[in-house]
Amino acid sequence: MNLTGIHFLMSYQCTHQCDHCFVWSSPRAGGTLPLERLTKVLDQAQELGTVRSIYFEGGEPFLFYPVLLEGIRQAKARGFETGVVTNCYWATEETDAALWLEPLRELEVGNVSLSSDTFHAGEVVDPRPGFAAEAAQRLGLDEFVITIDPPTVCTSHDGKGEPIVSGSVRFRGRAAVELVSDLPRRPWTEFNECPDEDFVDPGRVHVDGYGNVHLCQGLLLGNVEQVTLRELIGRYDPHTHPIIGPLIKGGPAELVRRYDIPHEDGYVDACHLCYQSRLALRKNFADELGPDQVYGQNERQTEC
Ligand code: SF4
Repeated sequence: MNLTGIHFLMSYQCTHQCDHCFVWSSPRAGGTLPLERLTKVLDQAQELGTVRSIYFEGGEPFLFYPVLLEGIRQAKARGFETGVVTNCYWATEETDAALWLEPLRELEVGNVSLSSDTFHAGEVVDPRPGFAAEAAQRLGLDEFVITIDPPTVCTSHDGKGEPIVSGSVRFRGRAAVELVSDLPRRPWTEFNECPDEDFVDPGRVHVDGYGNVHLCQGLLLGNVEQVTLRELIGRYDPHTHPIIGPLIKGGPAELVRRYDIPHEDGYVDACHLCYQSRLALRKNFADELGPDQVYGQNERQTEC
């Protein structure tokens, strides 16, 4: 495994509770990353020698602003490229937004990604991402606005003319529960590959506040409180991993076949089938599938 990127989930806590959230973030969620653990992971990432970039995400990382700044400072000091993803809840006016962003400019953060979509704002037009973008541009920060299109139903162009779902949502986490009810489904047997992850040679992982190292949200490589990143990578064998092995062989449909998982006839996309299958397997694979937070099973986990 040639690991080049680490994305910190600074917390599962967020100001919002979006329907499309992969990790069930909400104002009540816990799992906040302590600075000591963050520093330990940065040290281990530096020791690996392959990691180039560190991203700070969540949940909402600006809720933990001093730790976020210190994390960026420590990552820069180790020579990593850095980036931040935020929902801009703090950007109440452009002038005020600049006050929040100025320390990031001083730290020479590499990229600031700003979420702006109806999932975050609801039906009203939220001006805050715009304020944040204007302030970031004024400060000379490299900003990027992320927009997730809500799912829409259209007709397939493969000659069958079947209803299919378009949009950029992947149906895992809360999206696999909250957004699927009125959407067309395809037979579960069609989901023969994972659309997003290269499990044979993963290039980036997410590390959450509990120390879990995720290959996809809720699909774990291990925990840095028990084993170092170097050891986790060294012992990683994707083909013998009980969840990743089947995913490589035949996608989420192979998970269903391998473990004889009770299932419905159809699912909205591969992630929908994968998420529901993994949910059913959690009791058998507690070390590989977690934490509860990512499966919407315990939004009130004890803070670290
Ligand atoms: S199919 Fe499963 S492993 Fe692949 S991206 Fe979707 S949820 Fe993740």
